[in-house]
Amino acid sequence: EAVANRIAAGEVVERPASVVKELVENALDAGATRIEIEIAGGGRELIRVRDDGSGIPGGQIALALARHATSKIDGESLFSITSFGFRGEALPSIGSVARLRLTSSDGTEAREIRAAAGRLEAPRPAAHPRGTTVEVRDLFYATPARLKFLKSDRAETQAISEIVRRLALAVPRVGIRLSEVSAEPRLLFRAEPEPGPEDAARLARAERVIGRGFAENAVPVAAEREGLRLTGHAGLPTAARGSAVAQHVFVNGRPVRDRLLSGALRAAYADFLPRERHAALALHLDCPPEMVDVNVHPAKAEVRFRAPGVVRGLVISAIIHALAAAGH
Ligand code: ADP
Ligand code: MG
Repeated sequence: EAVANRIAAGEVVERPASVVKELVENALDAGATRIEIEIAGGGRELIRVRDDGSGIPGGQIALALARHATSKIDGESLFSITSFGFRGEALPSIGSVARLRLTSSDGTEAREIRAAAGRLEAPRPAAHPRGTTVEVRDLFYATPARLKFLKSDRAETQAISEIVRRLALAVPRVGIRLSEVSAEPRLLFRAEPEPGPEDAARLARAERVIGRGFAENAVPVAAEREGLRLTGHAGLPTAARGSAVAQHVFVNGRPVRDRLLSGALRAAYADFLPRERHAALALHLDCPPEMVDVNVHPAKAEVRFRAPGVVRGLVISAIIHALAAAGH
């Protein structure tokens, strides 16, 4: 059991940013409207994620740290998963390589449970409003070999910041704060819940995350083909950048980094931009769950499409049409 958890940890928990990703996704799965993230020492010393979601019923808090105990799947096919999590691996994995404290309340009673290097303590009564706080300290203290692979605090903080921004873009209705709680506290990112119709909320959040006048330099994208729908905003070639970090694609609401998609994006802009220039974009691809497999790798943002050719064609033609409509 302990060994299995550490093996899983090697897959799920590569670095502090992967812990932040798992904890924020859990908060989103719990329906949180506000998520507060605090880190210290690049996330190695401390990661604390607090949400106002559904919380965990008192009697089930130990289950949250048990391997393969997920509350999110009940015999349905892996293809039809709509929540972020579904393996029940993240919390036990993190608890096997760090000191973890989980405090939660479903609105009736609050409980707390701790794990350190895989050893679980008995749950005990606690004080917490409805929602959950997960505190992770001394990441990888139990697996010193993994510590050596971490980069500088600065680089790990940067990676955390990027993950948080990418997730923030996926959920414009959710308020998210990320701060550093060292001797000199520092606010790294903040976004209030975006009001208004979905499209306006998405654009406002994209402006918040991508910045540099994205909203003014982007065109709306909207296209459909064979059950696939592509919406969002694509940056004008005139505002392109020397890096692809401002390219955000979401498949059924989850952030994705995918060869097929980046190839299609490059092809869409090929007439306007040299290879090394990248337009900023925030695109949402939605399709029936059975058309995409998100189950490729627990930590990687890859997906596999049932009809890759249709996806590629849709992305390319939607962007070219959107740019043409704007006079390009
Ligand atoms: P998964 O997300 O794949 O189910 P995790 O290990 O990430 O697995 O979480 C285990 C379980 O703990 C979840 O299925 C959920 O029931 C519970 N849980 C974890 N984090 C939260 C949270 N922030 N709010 C409510 N429940 C949570
Ligand atoms: Mg999870």
